[in-house]
Amino acid sequence: METIFTKILKGDIPSVKLHEDELCFAILDINPVNKGHLLLITKEPYPTLQSCPDEVLAHLIRLAKQADATLRERLGCDATNLIVNNGKESGQEVAHLHFHIVPRFKDDHKNI
Ligand code: ADP
Repeated sequence: METIFTKILKGDIPSVKLHEDELCFAILDINPVNKGHLLLITKEPYPTLQSCPDEVLAHLIRLAKQADATLRERLGCDATNLIVNNGKESGQEVAHLHFHIVPRFKDDHKNI
């Protein structure tokens, strides 16, 4: 199944790629809700959490932890939101599992 993220992975759609390994990749969100908003995406287009193997989920969470540390260190953020829209009714627009990581800054007054 092709999704916008499989097209990005193939290079058919341009992106700012921050990381790639055998299971996952990370890009900057094209429509950031805050500075440094990134997406951690599985290479296989699992539509939801339930369809994603546990070992891939474990890898995604480890990467999310690393991304949080890197964003604090390099961007100087004070916290991060880790968001997964899981299913259409939750607001998931791209049916290909991805974690949003949104850097947060003291007093940024974002309602995320
Ligand atoms: P939502 O749009 O409600 O956040 P999703 O959780 O499905 O729904 O998120 C899809 C995300 O993918 C959005 O944040 C959107 O900005 C991002 N996105 C869509 N197309 C691109 C693209 N070409 N490059 C980077 N990010 C993209």
